[in-house]
Amino acid sequence: MKIGFIGLGIMGKPMAKNLIKTGHQLVVFDINEESVRELENEGALAVSSAKEVAEESSVIITMLPNSPHVKKAVCEENGVLEGAKSGSILIDMSSIAPTASQEIAHACLAKGVKMLDAPVSGGEPKAVDGTLSIMVGGQKEDFEANKELLLCMGASAVYCGAVGAGNTTKLANQIIVALNIAAVAEAFTLASKSGVDPQLVFEAICGGLAGSTVMNAKIQMMIKKNYKPGFKVDLHVKDLLNAMDTADKTKIPLPLTEQVMKMLQDLQENGFGSDDHSALARYYEKISGTSI
Ligand code: NAD
Repeated sequence: MKIGFIGLGIMGKPMAKNLIKTGHQLVVFDINEESVRELENEGALAVSSAKEVAEESSVIITMLPNSPHVKKAVCEENGVLEGAKSGSILIDMSSIAPTASQEIAHACLAKGVKMLDAPVSGGEPKAVDGTLSIMVGGQKEDFEANKELLLCMGASAVYCGAVGAGNTTKLANQIIVALNIAAVAEAFTLASKSGVDPQLVFEAICGGLAGSTVMNAKIQMMIKKNYKPGFKVDLHVKDLLNAMDTADKTKIPLPLTEQVMKMLQDLQENGFGSDDHSALARYYEKISGTSI
């Protein structure tokens, strides 16, 4: 059985390669031909549309930037649903709005196609290692039937609930990460302005309640002012906009998320959209005149 894979970017390319390494036959498509050729050289069958991917496979994975890209690749002309056979399954691993996942699942259902939303956390290094954390929404039996396949790309795959629940979980993840980075940047700016060595602050507090995976991963980047991504400011703004949109539909306020999103948007406006999200420290540098 061939596995279809659409979207061979920073994340999709290593994920697809891991599927090949674990013995799967892949049929691939991306609008970027260079990426398609790279996978073809690894043994994948290259085709020239999402529709053809769906014609050639019964499990179709998408790893695309945001909701409009997934809707285009799945629901529009030459998309997955024009080629998919009834009984096929779409596994969308992109981070998109939960409501968009539900809309796409609805369109799939009308064609007899099942769908899981299965976004990931872990970034490029874990995509390469095949140790992503995968959070999944959809029918439980579809999750169980495809769990082994997901674990060719991840260290864990957790069933979170009905379709959209995977992306709701991912939004929670992205809120916690963004707010944690902002808290680290804010606290270390205060310590630096007060004349305390940030490295010593880190060593003193990392083992206590303030310690976090985010602080461990990001503080050295802030101290060294090395904002090479990692995870780009642009992508985090996309995720927080999806969180705000979801909050709006759910009718709850997200005051902290809104505040940090504005800081990230300020970075975008100042030309730092392609920096790592730890560049939130730049925002504090701007408003305080002090660098960590
Ligand atoms: P990317 O921009 O590197 O890759 C996206 C790929 O999709 C590109 O190769 C692009 O050419 C292709 N594409 C766009 N529209 C297409 C279409 N209509 N048909 C076929 N191909 C199309 O993005 P990425 O970093 O790989 O991220 C993908 C998703 O994973 C995003 O939702 C992102 O938020 C999420 N994510 C990224 C990271 C990370 O660290 N980069 C971590 C976790 C989750």
